[in-house]
Amino acid sequence: MEIKEFQKLMKDLYFHFDSQRGLHRTALWLGEEIGELMAELKKAPKLINKVAVAEELADILAWSASLANLMDISLDQAVLKKYPGYCLKCGKNPCQCHKNLS
Ligand SMILES: [Zn+2]
Repeated sequence: MEIKEFQKLMKDLYFHFDSQRGLHRTALWLGEEIGELMAELKKAPKLINKVAVAEELADILAWSASLANLMDISLDQAVLKKYPGYCLKCGKNPCQCHKNLS
């Protein structure tokens, strides 16, 4: 599934609720899901539930799409603009900005 298709699916499924809830309360839900992801990831590595992490990442993507739909933003175009296939800072793929990170 492409980003554009996913955004349309979220619009078809949830736009009627998202538009009633509004931008700010929808943004709170995105924050809630990020908090749930962080709660899982702050556990000791052996205790992190990969299925739970995957579900939270899916929720974060879904709420991001809802926000984009509310603001009539194309996630597809936004992603391509910020991530055109090379690093915007150094122009390389893979990025060479932080070669000295250990
Ligand atoms: Zn770079």
